[in-house]
Amino acid sequence: MKALAKLTPSVGLTLTDVEKPDVGHNDVLIKIKKTAICGTDIHIWKWDDWAQKTIPVPMHVGHEYVGEIVAVGQEVRGFQIGDRVSGEGHITCGFCRNCRAGRRHLCRNTVGVGVNRPGAFAEYLVIPAFNAFKIPDDIPDDLASIFDPFGNATHTALSFNLVGEDVLITGAGPIGIMAVAIARHVGARNVVITDVNDYRLDLARKMGATRAVNVNRETLRGVMEALHMSEGFDVGLEMSGVPSAFTSMLACMNHGGKIALLGIPPANTAIDWNQVIFKGLEIKGIYGREMFETWYKMVAMLQSGLDLSPIVTHRYPASEFQAGFDAMLSGQSGKVILDWEA
Ligand code: NAD
Ligand code: ZN
Repeated sequence: MKALAKLTPSVGLTLTDVEKPDVGHNDVLIKIKKTAICGTDIHIWKWDDWAQKTIPVPMHVGHEYVGEIVAVGQEVRGFQIGDRVSGEGHITCGFCRNCRAGRRHLCRNTVGVGVNRPGAFAEYLVIPAFNAFKIPDDIPDDLASIFDPFGNATHTALSFNLVGEDVLITGAGPIGIMAVAIARHVGARNVVITDVNDYRLDLARKMGATRAVNVNRETLRGVMEALHMSEGFDVGLEMSGVPSAFTSMLACMNHGGKIALLGIPPANTAIDWNQVIFKGLEIKGIYGREMFETWYKMVAMLQSGLDLSPIVTHRYPASEFQAGFDAMLSGQSGKVILDWEA
């Protein structure tokens, strides 16, 4: 089958032929329809330090997808050939303390699809049936293919009660932009997002941001004054991984504010602990998606009117993957979709 793989320890990916995977007793075989390119795939493409330490070579990658089940292992219950599914990319051990308590997102033995084992940029993908998630018919393929990052946004945004709250989101990447729409949908008052990229800030405005702030030109303090927010933000969602963004978030939080950290900062990033202590801030780290509560919430929000459609900005057949990666690398994109059936 065709797959997009890292064949040598160097920049880029190659469309190549690999063995179609075997289906174990507890697995499902998914024929891939559409995939989306994640920021992680960009790290893998660029072959940065993290990728060099993490990605086995040769291996095909990718973990954002929708497809159709074409085979089920003999022990599998609850899934059938023909089911349209996406899947949770974190494969958990099932026997550690957290897994056994139903807190699968806190598994200490997580293995990542398309990171630690072969991925979804291919004609077929095998995953444990436990990780598959059926997509209702009223949700289009494009949106189903981005449930993984939509899940990051959902897990982060729904970590704290947003009803009537003033929310600051730092980083208008695809995940930050989706978080804007979620915060709006669930009833936040002001939703302010920051970035240094005007294309993405425009997208965030389309998704309902009260203010989309280019921090190279405007200060958060000024925006707070204009919005008559004298006390500060109630909830912060850090979605950039950029230390200065987190620093400004800490400075703009109200006392008793709550922060969820999704963005991954450089190692040993320093923070002003006085802000945390004297403001009595609550800080929560976020990894992945809750299995499968986050997935149910995603479906429920889409079915109750959450509109994410502007986030998909580029679509290509999988054979034109180079154009897709170029769009992502340019920073002038939301989500980029590769079609494996085109
Ligand atoms: P992304 O890289 O597309 O988005 C980050 C955004 O931050 C970019 O638009 C960038 O322009 C912006 N930025 C740069 N400097 C900034 C500044 N000073 N202030 C505000 N914004 C600034 O990433 P993404 O795919 O949207 O993911 C968001 C973050 O979440 C990344 O750090 C990613 O590594 C991380 N992530 C974490 C998990 C997890 O499970 N914890 C999962 C997925 C992604
Ligand atoms: Zn576990």
